[in-house]
Amino acid sequence: GLQERVENIENGDELSQLASLFNELMDQLEVSFRQQKQFVDDASHELRTPITILEGHLNLLDRWGKRDRAILEESLEASLQEVRRLKGLVQGLLALSRAESSTLTNHIEQIRIEPFLTKTLRRMEDLYPEFTFRMKGEGTGKMVRINPLHLEQMLFIVIENAVKYSGDHKEIDIRSYEEKNRVRISIQDHGIGIPTAEIQHVFDRFYRVDRARSREIGGTGLGLAIAKNLIQHYQGEIALTSVEDEGTRVILSFPAVS
Ligand code: ADP
Repeated sequence: GLQERVENIENGDELSQLASLFNELMDQLEVSFRQQKQFVDDASHELRTPITILEGHLNLLDRWGKRDRAILEESLEASLQEVRRLKGLVQGLLALSRAESSTLTNHIEQIRIEPFLTKTLRRMEDLYPEFTFRMKGEGTGKMVRINPLHLEQMLFIVIENAVKYSGDHKEIDIRSYEEKNRVRISIQDHGIGIPTAEIQHVFDRFYRVDRARSREIGGTGLGLAIAKNLIQHYQGEIALTSVEDEGTRVILSFPAVS
């Protein structure tokens, strides 16, 4: 690391070595500042759209809403929808910020994956009674070291996506298994899928395939970015494969407790 290199600087040539270290450090800082700025720009842009729509409807309400019942109802409904969207964005931004911070691997427990999945699926069945959640295979008997709230959060993000983008096929298949000393959890839907060229972007924050359609479905484009950030704190990986109009499979993997 940098510290080590500062300590190892040899006599005689300190100044030029320090100068080059300093330059390197400034380059790193600049990259980090640029990324911060990009993030603030992106977040502001995402927040501005619903605020502008909200402002438009409030203006309509102010001018016509007191007399015109149809405008009153339509603009109120639309305003509520935009406020919900804003709330979702702010919650997502908070979750992303927490997921990026490194102080979050407190409260780690050894969790047996199979019963944890069963419990999570029961809650999903309550939330989405029109869906069938199928547990496939025998399941792994292995355990994983993780904060249970984070495992739950990741599973919710991925399963809710499977629900949201399911189209008419309301079955979701879940499986857990071991492979090369890792525990894998596979969540597969049979929904609208993702065009091949777009798959590489879905983990970017705010990225949404087909923005117009996505806006109807609801969502912020933050879910997978949050999941990816969270899982990295546990030497985990998240991978996604998809075929348009056939479905999507997401695999979460973690080191198995030996
Ligand atoms: P969002 O809140 O938009 O769902 P995500 O970060 O969770 O945000 O996902 C990013 C985008 O990836 C989504 O907008 C959607 O276009 C696509 N996507 C994610 N999961 C699926 C899935 N299971 N099937 C089809 N598309 C998906």
